[in-house]
Amino acid sequence: MQKKTEKAKKTWFERAIFLSWYCSKGDCKFCYMSIQKDRIKDPKKARRRKEAILAEVIISKVCGWKVEFLSGGYDSYSVPELVAITKDIHKITGQKQWLNVGVLKKETIRRFMPHIEGVCGAVECINPKVRKEVCPSKPIQPIIRMFRDAEKLGLKKAMTIIIGIGETEKDIPSLVKFIEENKIDRITFYALNPHRGTIFRKGPATGYYTKWIKEIRKNCPTLQIIAGSWVNRLSEIHLLLEAGADAITKFPAINLFGTRYAKRIESEAKRAGREFTGTLTRMPDIDWNKEVDKLGFDENLSKNMKIKLLDYINQMKK
Ligand code: SF4
Repeated sequence: MQKKTEKAKKTWFERAIFLSWYCSKGDCKFCYMSIQKDRIKDPKKARRRKEAILAEVIISKVCGWKVEFLSGGYDSYSVPELVAITKDIHKITGQKQWLNVGVLKKETIRRFMPHIEGVCGAVECINPKVRKEVCPSKPIQPIIRMFRDAEKLGLKKAMTIIIGIGETEKDIPSLVKFIEENKIDRITFYALNPHRGTIFRKGPATGYYTKWIKEIRKNCPTLQIIAGSWVNRLSEIHLLLEAGADAITKFPAINLFGTRYAKRIESEAKRAGREFTGTLTRMPDIDWNKEVDKLGFDENLSKNMKIKLLDYINQMKK
């Protein structure tokens, strides 16, 4: 009798779509925005151009990368502007989006429906003392309120957490409790990537980072777990997947498309016994202009998107 081959579990790459370099809080001690804030006087000038954002979403779709969430600092866009961008991204991907743009009130969240699957709370750290020091202007209670409001609206809830900013393993049970109490559907873990100009110098050790993921997977079997990597941490990806991560994020996939770094992600997935869906290495052979035309955006936006797409594709081909 022919032996039934077991299907490999899938894994994939998720790309956060970054909207702006401005954040009115600007004082989270690990954050790149905290270094930028004083340099950016006009928040509007810190925004990415719409055609660049949408071109990046087209590339993500074609390459099989899932949009992780739409991410921007506090007060970088007005609500109507954000709603319009979310609607366009929904149109391109055919998928409802996750919003990670700060704490939103219930009435505001309602304005994004039916284009969102859920909201993401930037919890970052579960230890209250460390959190207060590291994110002084981002209290946890409003995030919890947003989760409750999202639930009342029938939306899902996600959160982000950064490992290596002063918490310890003793905080793991608090994270499990938080996930259970707030009925979190998905979590993104990041290993601290210290930015020059911040107080941090070193990211967490691999064993420590994977322990968090492993424990959360063990205690929260149905939670979707996304794990952040970085160019200098790619060799740990198989361990993150083996620990229970579903997918990988935080890799400059356009700039490093097709490079040995991108190949490493795909081979790390294989090493963990996973089937990698999508591609970080094979340039899709399609008519990119047609991808824009079929969306039916106005002429000027379509023209600018095509220019930007060409620019990104040239970067990917380098
Ligand atoms: S609120 Fe978010 S974007 Fe703003 S400084 Fe803190 S981590 Fe950075």
